[in-house]
Amino acid sequence: MKDRANTKYVKDADGSGAYGFEGAGELAGRVAVVTGGSRGIGAAVALRLASLGADVVITYVRGEDAAHDVVRKIGATGRRGLAVRADSADADGAVAAVERAVAEFGRLDVLVNNAGVGRLGPIGGLTTDDVDEVLAVNVRGVFLASRAAAGVMGRGASIVTIGSCMAQRVPGAGGTLYAMSKAALSGLNRALARELGERGITANLVLPGPVDTGMNPADGPMAAGQAAMTALGRFGAPDEVASVVGFLAGPGGSYMTGAEVAVDGGHAA
Ligand code: NDP
Repeated sequence: MKDRANTKYVKDADGSGAYGFEGAGELAGRVAVVTGGSRGIGAAVALRLASLGADVVITYVRGEDAAHDVVRKIGATGRRGLAVRADSADADGAVAAVERAVAEFGRLDVLVNNAGVGRLGPIGGLTTDDVDEVLAVNVRGVFLASRAAAGVMGRGASIVTIGSCMAQRVPGAGGTLYAMSKAALSGLNRALARELGERGITANLVLPGPVDTGMNPADGPMAAGQAAMTALGRFGAPDEVASVVGFLAGPGGSYMTGAEVAVDGGHAA
Protein backbone atom coordinates (compact mmCIF):
# COMPACT_ATOMS: atom_id res chain seq x y z
CA MET A 1 0.00 0.00 0.00
CA LYS A 2 1.19 3.48 -0.81
CA ASP A 3 1.99 6.02 1.88
CA ARG A 4 -0.66 8.68 1.35
CA ALA A 5 1.85 11.54 1.57
CA ASN A 6 4.34 9.88 -0.74
CA THR A 7 2.10 8.88 -3.60
CA LYS A 8 3.92 9.59 -6.83
CA TYR A 9 2.31 11.56 -9.60
CA VAL A 10 3.25 9.92 -12.86
CA LYS A 11 2.89 11.10 -16.40
CA ASP A 12 0.74 8.94 -18.61
CA ALA A 13 -0.20 6.43 -15.89
CA ASP A 14 -3.25 5.35 -17.83
CA GLY A 15 -1.97 5.96 -21.33
CA SER A 16 -4.06 9.11 -21.72
CA GLY A 17 -1.10 11.48 -21.64
CA ALA A 18 -2.35 13.12 -18.45
CA TYR A 19 -0.76 13.07 -15.04
CA GLY A 20 -2.30 10.45 -12.79
CA PHE A 21 -1.62 8.52 -9.64
CA GLU A 22 0.72 5.58 -9.65
CA GLY A 23 -0.95 2.26 -9.02
CA ALA A 24 -4.52 1.04 -8.97
CA GLY A 25 -7.08 2.90 -6.85
CA GLU A 26 -6.04 5.88 -4.78
CA LEU A 27 -7.59 4.23 -1.73
CA ALA A 28 -6.62 0.66 -2.55
CA GLY A 29 -6.15 -1.38 0.60
CA ARG A 30 -7.87 1.23 2.74
CA VAL A 31 -10.93 0.81 4.92
CA ALA A 32 -13.56 3.53 5.28
CA VAL A 33 -16.60 4.18 7.46
CA VAL A 34 -19.42 6.41 6.27
CA THR A 35 -22.12 7.17 8.82
CA GLY A 36 -25.56 7.54 7.29
CA GLY A 37 -24.56 5.81 4.08
CA SER A 38 -27.88 4.38 2.96
CA ARG A 39 -29.12 7.42 1.04
CA GLY A 40 -28.26 10.89 -0.16
CA ILE A 41 -24.79 12.31 0.27
CA GLY A 42 -23.59 9.40 2.42
CA ALA A 43 -24.53 6.79 -0.17
CA ALA A 44 -22.72 8.78 -2.88
CA VAL A 45 -19.65 9.10 -0.64
CA ALA A 46 -19.64 5.36 0.10
CA LEU A 47 -19.74 4.51 -3.60
CA ARG A 48 -17.09 7.11 -4.44
CA LEU A 49 -14.71 5.73 -1.81
CA ALA A 50 -15.33 2.18 -3.05
CA SER A 51 -14.67 3.27 -6.64
CA LEU A 52 -11.35 4.69 -5.40
CA GLY A 53 -10.48 1.28 -3.96
CA ALA A 54 -11.62 1.31 -0.32
CA ASP A 55 -13.66 -1.28 1.52
CA VAL A 56 -16.57 0.60 3.07
CA VAL A 57 -18.74 0.18 6.16
CA ILE A 58 -21.92 2.25 6.18
CA THR A 59 -24.48 2.90 8.89
CA TYR A 60 -28.21 3.48 8.63
CA VAL A 61 -31.22 3.55 10.95
CA ARG A 62 -34.41 3.10 8.94
CA GLY A 63 -33.50 2.27 5.35
CA GLU A 64 -32.40 -1.36 5.53
CA ASP A 65 -33.20 -2.13 1.89
CA ALA A 66 -31.50 1.04 0.72
CA ALA A 67 -28.44 0.26 2.84
CA HIS A 68 -28.16 -3.24 1.41
CA ASP A 69 -28.54 -1.81 -2.08
CA VAL A 70 -25.54 0.45 -1.42
CA VAL A 71 -23.58 -2.58 -0.19
CA ARG A 72 -24.48 -4.44 -3.40
CA LYS A 73 -23.20 -1.51 -5.45
CA ILE A 74 -19.99 -1.41 -3.41
CA GLY A 75 -19.59 -5.12 -4.18
CA ALA A 76 -20.03 -4.38 -7.88
CA THR A 77 -16.91 -2.17 -7.73
CA GLY A 78 -14.95 -5.18 -6.49
CA ARG A 79 -14.63 -3.87 -2.96
CA ARG A 80 -16.13 -5.19 0.28
CA GLY A 81 -19.12 -3.40 1.78
CA LEU A 82 -20.92 -3.81 5.08
CA ALA A 83 -24.13 -2.18 6.36
CA VAL A 84 -24.50 -1.71 10.11
CA ARG A 85 -27.75 -0.59 11.68
CA ALA A 86 -26.52 1.97 14.19
CA ASP A 87 -28.14 5.15 15.45
CA SER A 88 -25.60 7.95 15.82
CA ALA A 89 -27.83 9.43 18.53
CA ASP A 90 -26.87 6.53 20.80
CA ALA A 91 -23.42 6.44 22.34
CA ASP A 92 -22.90 2.80 21.31
CA GLY A 93 -24.40 3.37 17.86
CA ALA A 94 -22.10 6.30 17.15
CA VAL A 95 -19.02 4.08 17.43
CA ALA A 96 -20.50 0.82 16.13
CA ALA A 97 -19.26 1.18 12.55
CA VAL A 98 -15.73 2.03 13.63
CA GLU A 99 -15.65 -1.08 15.79
CA ARG A 100 -17.13 -3.27 13.03
CA ALA A 101 -14.69 -1.93 10.44
CA VAL A 102 -11.74 -2.93 12.61
CA ALA A 103 -13.32 -6.27 13.56
CA GLU A 104 -14.29 -7.27 9.99
CA PHE A 105 -11.70 -5.52 7.82
CA GLY A 106 -8.82 -5.17 10.27
CA ARG A 107 -8.15 -1.43 10.11
CA LEU A 108 -9.64 2.02 9.63
CA ASP A 109 -8.21 4.67 7.34
CA VAL A 110 -11.11 6.99 6.53
CA LEU A 111 -14.01 8.16 8.71
CA VAL A 112 -16.71 10.22 7.04
CA ASN A 113 -19.03 11.76 9.63
CA ASN A 114 -22.04 12.22 7.39
CA ALA A 115 -25.13 11.21 9.38
CA GLY A 116 -27.11 14.29 10.26
CA VAL A 117 -30.62 15.45 10.96
CA GLY A 118 -32.32 18.79 10.45
CA ARG A 119 -35.07 20.28 12.57
CA LEU A 120 -36.00 23.63 11.10
CA GLY A 121 -38.57 26.18 12.21
CA PRO A 122 -39.06 29.16 14.49
CA ILE A 123 -37.13 28.81 17.75
CA GLY A 124 -40.35 28.92 19.74
CA GLY A 125 -41.55 25.76 18.03
CA LEU A 126 -38.41 23.73 18.58
CA THR A 127 -38.75 21.47 21.60
CA THR A 128 -36.15 20.40 24.11
CA ASP A 129 -36.39 16.92 22.57
CA ASP A 130 -35.59 18.44 19.17
CA VAL A 131 -32.50 20.09 20.66
CA ASP A 132 -31.36 16.86 22.29
CA GLU A 133 -31.88 14.81 19.14
CA VAL A 134 -30.13 17.20 16.77
CA LEU A 135 -27.17 17.73 19.09
CA ALA A 136 -26.93 13.98 19.77
CA VAL A 137 -26.67 13.09 16.08
CA ASN A 138 -25.00 16.15 14.55
CA VAL A 139 -22.51 16.90 17.33
CA ARG A 140 -22.13 14.24 20.03
CA GLY A 141 -22.23 11.39 17.53
CA VAL A 142 -19.55 13.05 15.43
CA PHE A 143 -17.37 13.57 18.49
CA LEU A 144 -17.76 9.97 19.66
CA ALA A 145 -17.11 8.47 16.22
CA SER A 146 -14.07 10.70 15.76
CA ARG A 147 -12.74 9.73 19.18
CA ALA A 148 -13.19 6.05 18.40
CA ALA A 149 -11.59 6.44 14.98
CA ALA A 150 -8.64 8.41 16.33
CA GLY A 151 -7.99 5.54 18.71
CA VAL A 152 -7.46 3.03 15.91
CA MET A 153 -6.22 5.09 12.96
CA GLY A 154 -2.63 5.21 11.82
CA ARG A 155 -0.48 7.61 9.82
CA GLY A 156 -2.09 8.71 6.55
CA ALA A 157 -5.66 8.30 7.81
CA SER A 158 -8.29 10.99 7.49
CA ILE A 159 -11.49 12.19 9.11
CA VAL A 160 -13.90 14.09 6.89
CA THR A 161 -16.98 15.62 8.50
CA ILE A 162 -20.02 16.85 6.63
CA GLY A 163 -21.08 20.19 8.05
CA SER A 164 -23.25 22.71 6.25
CA CYS A 165 -23.08 26.09 4.58
CA MET A 166 -25.53 27.10 7.33
CA ALA A 167 -22.61 27.05 9.76
CA GLN A 168 -21.18 30.12 8.06
CA ARG A 169 -24.14 32.02 6.72
CA VAL A 170 -27.81 31.65 7.62
CA PRO A 171 -29.78 33.28 4.84
CA GLY A 172 -33.22 33.11 6.44
CA ALA A 173 -35.25 32.32 9.55
CA GLY A 174 -35.76 28.86 11.03
CA GLY A 175 -32.20 27.61 11.25
CA THR A 176 -31.26 28.23 14.88
CA LEU A 177 -30.88 24.62 15.99
CA TYR A 178 -29.46 23.18 12.78
CA ALA A 179 -26.98 26.04 12.29
CA MET A 180 -25.86 25.81 15.91
CA SER A 181 -25.21 22.09 15.56
CA LYS A 182 -23.26 22.47 12.33
CA ALA A 183 -21.23 25.44 13.64
CA ALA A 184 -20.02 23.26 16.53
CA LEU A 185 -18.24 21.08 13.98
CA SER A 186 -15.90 23.93 13.03
CA GLY A 187 -14.35 23.92 16.49
CA LEU A 188 -14.15 20.15 16.61
CA ASN A 189 -12.55 19.98 13.17
CA ARG A 190 -9.84 22.54 13.92
CA ALA A 191 -9.02 20.99 17.28
CA LEU A 192 -8.94 17.49 15.78
CA ALA A 193 -6.53 18.67 13.10
CA ARG A 194 -4.20 20.11 15.74
CA GLU A 195 -4.39 17.05 17.94
CA LEU A 196 -4.06 14.39 15.25
CA GLY A 197 -1.57 16.21 13.04
CA GLU A 198 1.47 14.92 14.86
CA ARG A 199 0.25 11.39 14.09
CA GLY A 200 -0.11 12.18 10.39
CA ILE A 201 -3.91 12.06 10.47
CA THR A 202 -5.91 14.80 8.75
CA ALA A 203 -9.30 16.26 9.69
CA ASN A 204 -11.36 18.38 7.34
CA LEU A 205 -14.86 19.80 7.22
CA VAL A 206 -16.98 19.88 4.07
CA LEU A 207 -19.70 22.53 3.93
CA PRO A 208 -22.35 21.57 1.38
CA GLY A 209 -24.86 24.03 0.04
CA PRO A 210 -28.28 22.79 -1.06
CA VAL A 211 -27.94 19.21 -2.30
CA ASP A 212 -30.77 17.20 -3.81
CA THR A 213 -31.51 14.44 -1.26
CA GLY A 214 -34.39 13.13 0.80
CA MET A 215 -33.52 15.69 3.47
CA ASN A 216 -33.63 18.58 1.01
CA PRO A 217 -35.28 17.64 -2.30
CA ALA A 218 -34.61 19.93 -5.26
CA ASP A 219 -38.36 20.01 -5.92
CA GLY A 220 -39.32 20.77 -2.33
CA PRO A 221 -41.25 23.86 -1.19
CA MET A 222 -38.07 25.71 -0.08
CA ALA A 223 -35.98 24.65 -3.09
CA ALA A 224 -36.33 27.60 -5.45
CA GLY A 225 -35.18 30.09 -2.82
CA GLN A 226 -32.19 27.95 -1.90
CA ALA A 227 -31.14 27.51 -5.52
CA ALA A 228 -31.41 31.27 -6.05
CA MET A 229 -28.97 31.87 -3.18
CA THR A 230 -26.20 29.98 -4.95
CA ALA A 231 -23.98 31.55 -7.59
CA LEU A 232 -24.67 28.61 -9.91
CA GLY A 233 -28.42 28.94 -9.41
CA ARG A 234 -29.04 25.26 -8.78
CA PHE A 235 -28.93 22.43 -6.27
CA GLY A 236 -25.90 20.20 -6.14
CA ALA A 237 -25.98 16.45 -6.71
CA PRO A 238 -24.77 14.11 -3.95
CA ASP A 239 -21.84 13.00 -6.10
CA GLU A 240 -20.63 16.60 -6.36
CA VAL A 241 -20.03 16.46 -2.61
CA ALA A 242 -18.73 12.89 -2.71
CA SER A 243 -16.01 13.77 -5.22
CA VAL A 244 -14.58 16.35 -2.81
CA VAL A 245 -14.73 13.90 0.10
CA GLY A 246 -12.86 11.37 -2.02
CA PHE A 247 -10.22 13.97 -2.81
CA LEU A 248 -9.77 14.91 0.86
CA ALA A 249 -9.46 11.25 1.87
CA GLY A 250 -7.02 10.44 -0.92
CA PRO A 251 -3.50 11.47 -1.90
CA GLY A 252 -4.67 14.84 -3.22
CA GLY A 253 -5.71 15.89 0.27
CA SER A 254 -2.58 14.77 2.09
CA TYR A 255 -1.48 18.33 3.00
CA MET A 256 -4.96 19.60 3.87
CA THR A 257 -6.05 19.55 7.49
CA GLY A 258 -8.21 21.75 9.68
CA ALA A 259 -9.74 23.12 6.48
CA GLU A 260 -13.35 23.99 5.76
CA VAL A 261 -14.21 23.30 2.15
CA ALA A 262 -17.38 24.85 0.76
CA VAL A 263 -19.11 22.66 -1.82
CA ASP A 264 -22.05 24.96 -2.16
CA GLY A 265 -22.43 26.22 -5.71
CA GLY A 266 -21.26 29.62 -4.48
CA HIS A 267 -23.75 29.94 -1.62
CA ALA A 268 -21.05 31.65 0.45
CA ALA A 269 -19.61 33.71 -2.40
P1 NDP B 1 -30.62 12.36 4.02
O1 NDP B 1 -31.67 12.64 5.04
O2 NDP B 1 -30.99 12.31 2.60
O3 NDP B 1 -29.83 11.03 4.42
C1 NDP B 1 -29.41 10.90 5.74
C2 NDP B 1 -28.64 9.61 5.92
O4 NDP B 1 -28.22 9.56 7.29
C3 NDP B 1 -29.46 8.39 5.66
O5 NDP B 1 -28.61 7.38 5.17
C4 NDP B 1 -30.01 8.06 7.04
O6 NDP B 1 -30.25 6.68 7.20
C5 NDP B 1 -28.84 8.44 7.91
N1 NDP B 1 -29.22 8.81 9.26
C6 NDP B 1 -30.17 9.67 9.64
N2 NDP B 1 -30.22 9.74 10.97
C7 NDP B 1 -29.26 8.90 11.42
C8 NDP B 1 -28.82 8.52 12.71
N3 NDP B 1 -29.38 9.02 13.81
N4 NDP B 1 -27.82 7.62 12.81
C9 NDP B 1 -27.26 7.08 11.71
N5 NDP B 1 -27.63 7.39 10.47
C10 NDP B 1 -28.63 8.29 10.33
O7 NDP B 1 -29.52 13.50 4.27
P2 NDP B 1 -28.45 14.19 3.30
O8 NDP B 1 -27.78 13.18 2.46
O9 NDP B 1 -29.09 15.36 2.67
O10 NDP B 1 -27.44 14.77 4.39
C11 NDP B 1 -26.21 14.14 4.72
C12 NDP B 1 -25.40 15.14 5.54
O11 NDP B 1 -25.21 16.33 4.77
C13 NDP B 1 -26.08 15.59 6.84
O12 NDP B 1 -25.13 15.73 7.86
C14 NDP B 1 -26.69 16.93 6.46
O13 NDP B 1 -26.86 17.75 7.58
C15 NDP B 1 -25.62 17.46 5.52
N6 NDP B 1 -26.08 18.49 4.62
C16 NDP B 1 -27.06 18.26 3.69
C17 NDP B 1 -27.47 19.26 2.85
C18 NDP B 1 -28.53 19.08 1.82
O14 NDP B 1 -28.96 20.09 1.22
N7 NDP B 1 -28.98 17.87 1.54
C19 NDP B 1 -26.87 20.62 2.90
C20 NDP B 1 -25.83 20.74 3.88
C21 NDP B 1 -25.45 19.72 4.71
P3 NDP B 1 -31.70 5.97 7.18
O15 NDP B 1 -32.66 6.89 6.51
O16 NDP B 1 -31.44 4.71 6.45
O17 NDP B 1 -32.04 5.71 8.59
